[in-house]
Amino acid sequence: MKNKDKLEKVKQKNIEVGIVTYRFDTSKPEDCEQYSDLKKQLRERGLELFDFIAGCSSSLDKEKRVKTGIYHVETDHIFSNQYNTEEGFRVFDWSEKIYPNSSIKDGYYITNSENFKKLKELVHKTFACGYCGKQSLEFGDGFCHKCVGSEYLKIENYALLKLRPVDYKESRDQEKPKRSKDQTA
Ligand SMILES: [Zn+2]
Repeated sequence: MKNKDKLEKVKQKNIEVGIVTYRFDTSKPEDCEQYSDLKKQLRERGLELFDFIAGCSSSLDKEKRVKTGIYHVETDHIFSNQYNTEEGFRVFDWSEKIYPNSSIKDGYYITNSENFKKLKELVHKTFACGYCGKQSLEFGDGFCHKCVGSEYLKIENYALLKLRPVDYKESRDQEKPKRSKDQTA
C-alpha cells in the first residue's frame, strides 16, 4: 500500500490517544526533580509546550479541565499541535497553565504511542492552503486549486496558495511571489 493510502486509512476514523495530567509544586525538592525529568522527556519527544495564563477569560480557560484518560482525535481538519476530540475537548501535545505562583506546574501531555506517531505523520503529510485553509493529502502541482483563478486574489497573494504541511513553521508572509523578482530583474 502506498504511503498516501495508508494515511487515508488512518484518517478514516478518529485516532485514540492518551492524556496524562500532572501537577507539581516546584518549591518542594522532590516535585522540582520530577518536573524537570518530565520536561526533559517531553522535549526529547519533540513536543512544544503551549502555556497560557490561568484565569484569563479566554475560551481555553472556560473549557472543562482536561483529565487523564483516553481521547479520540478528530481527523477531518487537523492542526499542528492541538486537536479537536470526540470528547469535546481541544487537547494540545503539551499544555500548562501559568499561575501567579510560578512554582505551581499544572498541565498535561499526550502519551507516546503508535497512534500518536500516526497522528504526527498525518499532520506532517497533510497539506494546507494558506488562504482558504483547505487540507489535502494530495500535493498535485503544489497549489490550492480551490483558490487558483479566484477573482478575489491578486498575483501577490499567490504565495499563500502554495500547499504547505500543516506543521509548516515558517511565516508564509515572508515568501515573496516570483513575479516581483522578475519585475526587478
Ligand atoms: Zn485555497
